[in-house]
Amino acid sequence: MLDRPTTREGWAARAAALAIEGRAFIGGAYVAALDGASFAKVSPIDGKVFAHVADCGEADIDRAVKAARAAFDSGVWRDADPQRKKAVLLRFAALIRENIDEIALLETLDVGKVISNAFAVDVPFCADCIQYYAELADKLYDEVAPVGVHDVAMVRKEPLGVIGAIVPWNYPLIIAAWKIGPALVAGNSVVLKPAEQSPLASLLLGRLAKQAGLPDGVLNIVPGFGEKAGKPLALHPDVDMIAFTGSTEVGKLMMVYAGQSNMKRVALECGGKSPHVVMPDADLDAAAEAIAWGIYYNQGETCHAGSRVLAHESIRAALVEKIAAVQQAQIPLGHPFDAAAQLGAVVEEKQMRRVLDYIAIGVKEGARVAHGGKRAMAETGGFYVEPTILDGARNDMRVAQEEIFGPVVVVVPFETEAEAVRLANDTIYGLAAAVWTRDMNAAHRLTRAIRAGTVWVNTYDRSSLTTPFGGFKQSGFGRDRSPHAIDKYMDFKTIWTSYR
Ligand code: NAD
Repeated sequence: MLDRPTTREGWAARAAALAIEGRAFIGGAYVAALDGASFAKVSPIDGKVFAHVADCGEADIDRAVKAARAAFDSGVWRDADPQRKKAVLLRFAALIRENIDEIALLETLDVGKVISNAFAVDVPFCADCIQYYAELADKLYDEVAPVGVHDVAMVRKEPLGVIGAIVPWNYPLIIAAWKIGPALVAGNSVVLKPAEQSPLASLLLGRLAKQAGLPDGVLNIVPGFGEKAGKPLALHPDVDMIAFTGSTEVGKLMMVYAGQSNMKRVALECGGKSPHVVMPDADLDAAAEAIAWGIYYNQGETCHAGSRVLAHESIRAALVEKIAAVQQAQIPLGHPFDAAAQLGAVVEEKQMRRVLDYIAIGVKEGARVAHGGKRAMAETGGFYVEPTILDGARNDMRVAQEEIFGPVVVVVPFETEAEAVRLANDTIYGLAAAVWTRDMNAAHRLTRAIRAGTVWVNTYDRSSLTTPFGGFKQSGFGRDRSPHAIDKYMDFKTIWTSYR
């Protein structure tokens, strides 16, 4: 094993020496797109091409779905003993941990997140998730319903069949694991379509799953673009369910595709515009620290980033100053390979331009740039945006309503608790929220009144595999994480026997 680099140059040398696999993983083998097409993968770190990836389309998706269906119908995984499923998935998790250097490096090259976070969070959380579901393999029971003495009514849960998992680029490994873990432990086969911006670490999972003993065809990974590869997967008549994470706009298309094809199930984890409600009695230092980390971690490219701060007018100015100070002291922007950096590159040039456009829109609408606001580190050729605060916004502004998905927090003042609740819920989204107050009565009132899948009190972004995660309203439906996530990959079957 090579020593882990400690410098930017060391990581760059390691990256240059990587043998990167960009082909699809179908039926247990890496294969080029059937028509030979590929696309160049640019790293947001420096704007340079560092890999070529199979540009898959309908024929490749069909090939992957057929492999997944054949594996499912053969029963090789579906009917495997729970202990065997557990052993294979535990080995898979262990192999992810053993290969952390290569996986973390690919994740950083692909999406620009700082490598220290890829090591501390993305790769271990991916492995932990696979392990969590592995350990549930022999702990899931079916039911016997309470019916008359001459009947036995068993309610059995059965896997759905072929699951299409379509995932975004912000936490490529973690979100893929949130789908793969529960879908596989339930006995399904999976076709994973990573985002075009982030295919490489996911593709490596194929090799590790095979090495762990997962039978060929049970996990297939097909890279490509949304319209060209994602759409045929979602329209495929032999896919039983689409587990989607991504934007609300594309999430709605999944429902259309399901209706246009075979009425496949759909589970959607979509966007957010999650509010912090900061009451006048809040611990402002604690709130500022959590707000800064909640919006600047991962460049703000987090579905539940606390991107909207609803601040009581009496503490707003002090809070804004403290958020900026926390960012400067704790969350420096820097090259993703630098050990000190906590905020790296935005995923691609288009996204950087979008974030900068939103800052300009906010200013035009009347908000004030209180911190940051510009492109940074342009000399690297990469795509970096300064951590930004837009103060004095109104909740009806576009920057307070639309998901920016970058390191930009919007601050909106309020005067009364009732107004705070109204503003918090005045959004199409309902993924997460936080309430900051020392008054437990107010905390209970607010957590009940705010419509969101997770509401934190005096903290932010605390999470665990043991708690369900997902949204209300147009943030989607269905939940990832926790044992509840398994249910959506299964169907109930009633088996009724009468006897005398
Ligand atoms: P996106 O919706 O553009 O893409 C998501 C995935 O869908 C990608 O794999 C993409 O290739 C695919 N896709 C795009 N168009 C498609 C089409 N017509 N048919 C089929 N597939 C298609 O989202 P993104 O830009 O990759 O990710 C950012 C979004 O993801 C944000 O809105 C963010 O909030 C959301 N997100 C949500 C959660 C959550 O758990 N709720 C987690 C992470 C990200």
